[in-house]
This record gives sequence, C-alpha cells and structure tokens, in this order.
Amino acid sequence: MPEHVKIREVGPRDGFQNEPEVIATADKVRLIDMLSRTGVRRLEVTSFVRPDVIPQLADAREVLEGIDPPDDVALSVLIPNERGLDNALELRERFGEVNLFLSASETHNRKNVNRSVEESLSGLERVVARAREAGLRCEGVISVSFGCPYEGHVPPERVFAIAERLAAAGCEEVAFGDTTGMANPAQVGEFFRAARERLPDVELTAHFHNTRGQGLANVFAALEAGVRSFESSFGELGGCPVPKGATGNIASEDLVSMLHEMGYETGIDLNALIEAGREAQRVLGRPLGSHVLTAGPVDWQGLSA
Ligand code: ZN
Repeated sequence: MPEHVKIREVGPRDGFQNEPEVIATADKVRLIDMLSRTGVRRLEVTSFVRPDVIPQLADAREVLEGIDPPDDVALSVLIPNERGLDNALELRERFGEVNLFLSASETHNRKNVNRSVEESLSGLERVVARAREAGLRCEGVISVSFGCPYEGHVPPERVFAIAERLAAAGCEEVAFGDTTGMANPAQVGEFFRAARERLPDVELTAHFHNTRGQGLANVFAALEAGVRSFESSFGELGGCPVPKGATGNIASEDLVSMLHEMGYETGIDLNALIEAGREAQRVLGRPLGSHVLTAGPVDWQGLSA
C-alpha cells in the first residue's frame, strides 16, 4: 500500500496574487476547474483581502460563484482579518476551509500587515473562533518560519510558540512557510522533528518556495522527518516581491512527479496537472518555471527517445 501524501494546490491564490497583469475572471475559473479535476483534494482558490491592496484577487466572489469543483475537493480561501471573514461568510456554502496567516518575525509581519505579531495573533484568534462557529476548518500559515529577509535567523522556538497559539485557538492544521526560500534541508529536518514533538495533535504542513532551487530538497527532508502534507503551486507560480525576481512556490508538477517516483501516492493525475500548467502558460503568455511542465513525466518505457 503506497503511503498517501496530501497536497494543497495554492496556485490560484498564492500564485495568481503575484502576477503583475490582472488575469480575467473567466480564465481563473477555467484554470481552477481544470485543477479541481486533477485529483487534488485541497485547493486554495482566492483571498478576501482588500481589493485596493491586491487588485488581482478583487474578483474573489465571482471566482467562488463561477467555479464548479467536484464534491470531494476541499476548497479554501485566505482570510486576512475579521472584515475579510465577514465578506467570505456571505459565500459560506461555496467553501469549507479558511487559511489565516501571520509572520514569525516582527519586521516581516509589520511590513506585511502593519501589526505586531501579538496584535496579529489576537486578531486571528477572534477570526478562528468565528470561522469555527460557522463550521469552517481553519489552517494557520506562519510566514518566514525558516528565516526572515529583514531579521535573518528565526528561532524555531518562536515559530512553535506561535503555532501553539494557533492550535489552541482552533487551527487543526498549521503550515510553515519558507516565504523567501531561505531554508536548507538540514534545517528543515531538524525543524520538523522538533515540531512533531511540540505539536503532536496538529497537522503539520510544509510550504516551501524554490527561490534558491532548494524546494524539493526541503520536501525530501520534511518527508524524512514525517511530514505528509505540502503546499505547492502549479507551474511554479507565485513568489514574493522581496527579494525581487524570486521564483515562486515549489511547482506542483515537480512535487507530484517526485513523490510518485518515490512510491508515494497523492491521488493526483500528473498528466492532467501538466495540462492545467500548459493552459496557465497560454493564459499568461510565457513559459512557467516548473521543470516537469517542460520535461514531462519520467518515461520508464524509454519510448520518448
Ligand atoms: Zn507561497
């Protein structure tokens, strides 16, 4: 029996959010519908951020109303604050999960949401309570968990303390983000071995960026440390404005290919995922960074010459 690894596709939110040109709602809907038919069971589709802050995601409502995913796909939306939750709850029947975020470092959190970490935490505790009342599953996402572009080293102890607060508030899952690609595999292995001891009842998810080409090496280290839940973005879409030009999230195609080749099962049809990536290339009018999107799946029959 191959062991199952969970994957949350975050391209429609984390990926699209960083695209400089606004993508037409109809294109987003078509791409999300393609993704939702790849066999992926977790899909982050949009965010209820203020439209003037992120115009790319101003069509959150239209996207949620337009998509037609199979029933077994758990849809999630990113919620920045209580106001965002209010807006999202108007479409409560369209999704089952909310993702809430803050940064592990004071400077990154301040630059991102103009609040201290403590202020963010107390705000998120209220959001989680209300979201759970509405029957929503909650995932907390901790950015810059493995290093901060402003503060450098981030003590794991600090990250775990934040994760414990999120879990106590009612987050069933906590994702640790390597937001600017500073993590290395040795660090990741050590981090998750300690995290599993500290947070035995929480689903631990790894969210790596491939900024320095170490994304899949970090996945391998996390797997070895027992992590069985990952977030990735089709086409390797996404990234972070700091540092400039940084490549995005690890590519879903590369992640799925690696996991399948290693004998894990994801439920995802890699060819269908590649089709979605190709469609994203057509929509965006440029080649995307995913390796497997270019190379195709490994062909052990040797027929591709
Ligand atoms: Zn990301």
